[in-house]
Amino acid sequence: MTNRAPSDGSVVASEHRERLRRAASAAAERGIDALLITPSEDYAYLLGYSAPAMERLTCLIVPADGAPSLVLPRLEEPLARNELDGLDDAIEILPWDETDDPIQLVRAVVGGALRVALQDQMWARFALRLRAALDPAELVAAGPAMSVLRSVKSADEIDRLRAAASAADRAMQAIVAEPLAGRVEAEVSRRIRELLLQAGHDEAGFAIVASGPNSASPHHAAGTRRIDAGDAVVLDIGGTRSGYASDTSRTCFVGEPPAEFVALHGLLREAQSAACAAVRPGISGAELDAVARDIITDAGYGDAFLHRTGHGIGRETHEEPYIVASNAEPLVEGNVFSVEPGIYIRDTWGARIEDIVVCTADGGERLNTTSTELYVVG
Ligand code: ZN
Ligand code: ZN
Ligand code: ZN
Repeated sequence: MTNRAPSDGSVVASEHRERLRRAASAAAERGIDALLITPSEDYAYLLGYSAPAMERLTCLIVPADGAPSLVLPRLEEPLARNELDGLDDAIEILPWDETDDPIQLVRAVVGGALRVALQDQMWARFALRLRAALDPAELVAAGPAMSVLRSVKSADEIDRLRAAASAADRAMQAIVAEPLAGRVEAEVSRRIRELLLQAGHDEAGFAIVASGPNSASPHHAAGTRRIDAGDAVVLDIGGTRSGYASDTSRTCFVGEPPAEFVALHGLLREAQSAACAAVRPGISGAELDAVARDIITDAGYGDAFLHRTGHGIGRETHEEPYIVASNAEPLVEGNVFSVEPGIYIRDTWGARIEDIVVCTADGGERLNTTSTELYVVG
């Protein structure tokens, strides 16, 4: 059985009407005749509920011009009608029976289109058949059109992200108050998942516990290593709440940290805080990345900061905009992203500090509010 995320609940139908309308204009601006959106976060963003991605095709068709339609298996129709309450008059529902060919149903709606965009995570089994059925239409990715919508968060979305961030903060505060020495990474990770749920997440997404030399590996998950005195421990945790993701990192040290590590962490903290303070509409992802990177590079650790400064966050943990040297796009009000520089000394130790930040008219607002200090734990 496929996982069904809880639906958005309180997001009103008028908001989704508006999102569908903006998706149509984003398509039109790119010369796209129709967006084909299969179950995904794009689908949930537009319609307000999550449909299962499975072998039976469900596909929302958003034409640049005209009313959207929804091709779906007849057995999914009652769920869709229920979830689309207040929106169903804006969408033509086209259910198909077990022996019908849904690809032909899509073709009947968009046949003759010259340029059609497919949802980025559409399964190849559908994408390949659509390519044949819609020939000679040019097929492009729907991602760029969808991300201009999704990367600018509404006040309601920012509230959800704030609630998710506070829940992650509560879990983080709880885990850094526990002794870590003698515990295995995987056990601490399970404990964090428990804390994420207790703090109000609907799902505990991930709980990186990277101790000792593992802390030098940015995406180390959590393994069988036993945490001991003298270890740096990077904790990077998050989940989802009301459809929106949290993601925060803090660094601990088990026992009294050596001066060298305190200095390294202090430098990282300075870089992270400078980048948070530099957030404002108009600064580009590349410029913001440079704010953190220059401080770390000038101190001689440039090679040890081996990933981008951050990523957008919303319905997905990683989405546009990316805070990376290749992103020349200026940030705009309503962008929400992580600011998470790290310093990783291979085989020795590492540190990362991560907050989710909203770009507001007045600058950056941190959604994570726990102290970014180095946590000394037992
Ligand atoms: Zn990451
Ligand atoms: Zn993270
Ligand atoms: Zn992150």
